[in-house]
Amino acid sequence: MTSYLFNNYQRKPFELVSGKGVWVKDEQGKSYLDLTSGIGVTNLGHCQTDCESALLEQSHKIWHMPNLYNSQIQEIVAQKLGEKHHFLSYFCNSGAEANEAAIKLARKASGKSKIITCLESFHGRTYGAMSATGQKVIQTGFSPLVPDFQNIGFNNWQDLEQIDQSTAAVMLEVIQGEGGVILADKKWLQQLQKICWQKKVLLIIDEVQTGIGRTGTFYAFEQYDLDPDIITLAKGLANGIPVGAMLGKKKLAAAFGPGSHGTTFGGNKLALASANAVLDYFQENELLKEVQAKGAYLLQQLKKISSSKIQDIRGKGLMVGIELTFDQPVEKILTDLAEVGVLALYAGHNTLRLLPALTITKKELDFGIEKITQILTQEY
Ligand code: PLP
Repeated sequence: MTSYLFNNYQRKPFELVSGKGVWVKDEQGKSYLDLTSGIGVTNLGHCQTDCESALLEQSHKIWHMPNLYNSQIQEIVAQKLGEKHHFLSYFCNSGAEANEAAIKLARKASGKSKIITCLESFHGRTYGAMSATGQKVIQTGFSPLVPDFQNIGFNNWQDLEQIDQSTAAVMLEVIQGEGGVILADKKWLQQLQKICWQKKVLLIIDEVQTGIGRTGTFYAFEQYDLDPDIITLAKGLANGIPVGAMLGKKKLAAAFGPGSHGTTFGGNKLALASANAVLDYFQENELLKEVQAKGAYLLQQLKKISSSKIQDIRGKGLMVGIELTFDQPVEKILTDLAEVGVLALYAGHNTLRLLPALTITKKELDFGIEKITQILTQEY
């Protein structure tokens, strides 16, 4: 069949047409345990009932009005996201857009342009976010990039010297997701924070993948005793409805006055109704404690697998990477897993990445662990 789509995605030859919780079905009716959450998006599971009700209720009222008018739902969600850490919110539609907003805010508020990001980082595919991304493979063919981005090594102490008074901001993920589930060293992050304070440099934490409970705290930075000036969110915020958010400290507000930045769909009422249901779910349940316990269990069980294909296993909460040896292409392992009814992801360093819904049960996790064990221990 002739396709009228650009070929920019490498797609598996089946379509997932329905889903509930952590289970999805393809067009042939085959069931899969979804350990991807649609790349860390459906954190509360597919077609989650609270989000579904909120979406239905909002769909009967009004779907869209632009940011020319007050928005009660934006106020409510912004308060829930920002109250604890004194953040103001700006809503957009994706992680890349949230990072664009962060970059713009940091440059305008500081009056400086240099932004330091990390090698192997991923911040999105728009021009600013791509220029911030520390992976040549993402940038090749798209020059000239946005100027004044500089990369330092992740966890590299010596490179911290590059943060100086001419730097507007340092922007990083505390766990590099696309880069291969690479965890930052807590002491290194704290030193970086200290230097940012000393040199009057803004700290931006990209929580697009790590945020909304993924690592066992609502924001991953909370586990590192950091106090970022700006954070960015997207993926899990509305459990599958496109949304992004840039949160920044009140001291930065003057740089983002009327007319400074905006987007037509930002803060869309349907998206924010779903986001509100997600945030209520966290308030009403002990989900973060469960994520910590389930994440520890998952890591512990995976580490018991005895397989020469495994190079390393690492993660935090329900964000886990299994780095494979170079002779075991992760794509082949993903295909084999799909065959036996499990969907997983790849990431940098030939890493099999697991981002299950935070609501996954122990029994469902056990099913996934059993299938992963089967595929990683089978002989060809
Ligand atoms: N930042 C991080 C840490 C991400 O993992 C991603 C996407 O994977 C992005 C930004 C880009 O988000 P989006 O694809 O919604 O633009």
